[in-house]
Amino acid sequence: MTTRPVRTARLSRRSRYIVLVVSCVPVLLGASHRTTNFVVEAATPGAAKAVADHAELCRKEIAVLWLGKELAAWQSPCPVKVKLTQGEAGGLTSFGFAAGRVADQTMSVEGRLDRILASAIPHEVTHTVFAAYFGGPMPRWADEGASLLSEDARERRRHDQISLDLLARRGDLPLAKLFRVEDYPSDLMGFYGQGYSISRFLVEMGGRPRFLQFVRDGLRGGWDPAAKTHYGLADVRELDRAWRSWHKVVVARESPGDKLIVRAQSAGE
Ligand SMILES: [Zn+2]
Repeated sequence: MTTRPVRTARLSRRSRYIVLVVSCVPVLLGASHRTTNFVVEAATPGAAKAVADHAELCRKEIAVLWLGKELAAWQSPCPVKVKLTQGEAGGLTSFGFAAGRVADQTMSVEGRLDRILASAIPHEVTHTVFAAYFGGPMPRWADEGASLLSEDARERRRHDQISLDLLARRGDLPLAKLFRVEDYPSDLMGFYGQGYSISRFLVEMGGRPRFLQFVRDGLRGGWDPAAKTHYGLADVRELDRAWRSWHKVVVARESPGDKLIVRAQSAGE
């Protein structure tokens, strides 16, 4: 499949009005497993435990990677609703923010259990780490793009391919525009692919903590000064050129089958 069944559900992840669906439909779910920071409802005790344990492990490892330290235990565990299907994995995490911190969060994931563990849980848990760091909404491109970096190699390769296709058909946005996108655009997969590719480029240049500092400072004080401070580039236009150069060389080399697409793009320039 080229799209995930619940991708579009992520459109509402920052809704101010959190609907507590989980508490309303317990009869549909078979088992619950509680850890320090998660309470997981799933069809079987084994699935609930596997998801809860993996979410705890991801929460610890992802926070250390991005923040340099673990998060403190949440005051109340994050509810996670698991829907097991035969399909690819997807997920949704909704946050409520108050006084510069996360006031409420709920998560749902669906798909095959192995794909939930490899892809959806690391992705959604990364959103919770970012929400704790920012204490408010993070720019869409960075929130989704950097969360994709937590997924397994298969999903990362898929999004490299999406970014290659996006550039070949000139569906990408200039970074100055992408950084200011507040609502998900109609080309959702392209938006994810470009956000992923730029996040990957910035992380490979300067590491994960610097990426978060860049995004935080870009939000507060503008993207041009943030590009200069954190990456030594004159402004976002120069960052845009650097990303495109890197993409043509690095991503195209990693995907030899896609070079024709890249050459077609170059010929059209
Ligand atoms: Zn996401």
